Amino acid sequence: MLPFRLVYHPKYDLNLGPHVFPSQKYRWLRDRLLQTRFCGEDDFVEPEPASDEDILLAHERAWVTKLKNGTLSYQEILQLEIPYSPQTIAAFWVAAGGTILAARLALESRLGFNLGGGFHHGFAGHGEGFCAINDIAVALRRLQKDGAIARAMVVDCDVHHGNGTAALFAGDPSVFTLSIHQFHNYPAVKPLSSMDIHLPDGTGDDEYLHRLRNGLAAARSMFHPDLVLYVAGADPYCEDQLGGLALTFQGLMERDRLVLETSLRENIPVAVVLAGGYAQNVQDTITIHANTAAVARKLLQAL
Ligand SMILES: [Zn+2]
Repeated sequence: MLPFRLVYHPKYDLNLGPHVFPSQKYRWLRDRLLQTRFCGEDDFVEPEPASDEDILLAHERAWVTKLKNGTLSYQEILQLEIPYSPQTIAAFWVAAGGTILAARLALESRLGFNLGGGFHHGFAGHGEGFCAINDIAVALRRLQKDGAIARAMVVDCDVHHGNGTAALFAGDPSVFTLSIHQFHNYPAVKPLSSMDIHLPDGTGDDEYLHRLRNGLAAARSMFHPDLVLYVAGADPYCEDQLGGLALTFQGLMERDRLVLETSLRENIPVAVVLAGGYAQNVQDTITIHANTAAVARKLLQAL
C-alpha cells in the first residue's frame, strides 16, 4: 500500500473531445500508476461530488445556477474556452469533491493526492481558461467552515498565474496564496496573490528552483498554515504547448520535492491537485504527474 491515498473518479473526464486540454489524462494517469505497479487498486478512493452548498462557499449563486441550468451566455462560454455539456459541468463538481477529500485525507495522514482538480482560473462569478469551478477555494472554504483548519497556504506552480484563486482569497488573511508562473502568458490580468513570482520566458530548472526556494522560505517566514494545497501543474515543462518555461522532468521533480518537503518536514499536511499540462506528447504530461506521486511516496517513506 502507498503511504497516502489517491483520490480519483471516472467522472473526472471533462468529455471535451479533441481539445488542447487532454481531459482523459486523469484516467490515463490512473492506468499508468497501475501498469507500472506504483500502486494497486486498493490505493484509490472515490470522492463524492461536492454538494451545491460546498460550491456556494466559494462561488456566487447566479454562476452556479447558470452552470447547472446551461444558461451561460455566448461570451461566458467563450471565456471558459471549453464547450458546454452537462457531463463537463458535472466533472467540476466531482473534481471539487475530490479536492475536499484529498484535503481531509491530508489532515489524517499527512498527504492527500487528488488525481484531478487544480482549476485555478475559476472566479466567484465566472469561469475562465478551462475552469468553471475553483476546487481549490471550495475545498479550503469547506475545511475552514468545518473547523478542520483555520489557515491554509496555496502553492501554485502551474505555468499560468492562479488568477481565480488570487481573486477569491484577496484580502483574506487566513489564506496565503503563492503563485510562481510565466509572466508573459495567460492570464493577461493577474490579480495580486499574497506572493507572485513572475518568471521571464524560457526560465530553466536552476533559476526556477532558486526563485521557488526563496519564495517558499519567505512565505513560510510570514505565514504558518494548517494545510498546504499544492497546485502541481505539469505545464512549466519545456515541451508544453501552452507554456513558455523550460523545465525538464528532473527539474519538475525537484520542484515537487521542494514544495512537499518544506511542508512535510514541519508537519504541515499537504493536499496535491494536478492542474494543467499540455505537452506535445500527452504521455509526457502523464509522466510529470506520475513523477509528482513518486516524489511524494519517496518523501513520506523517508520522513
Ligand atoms: Zn496552466
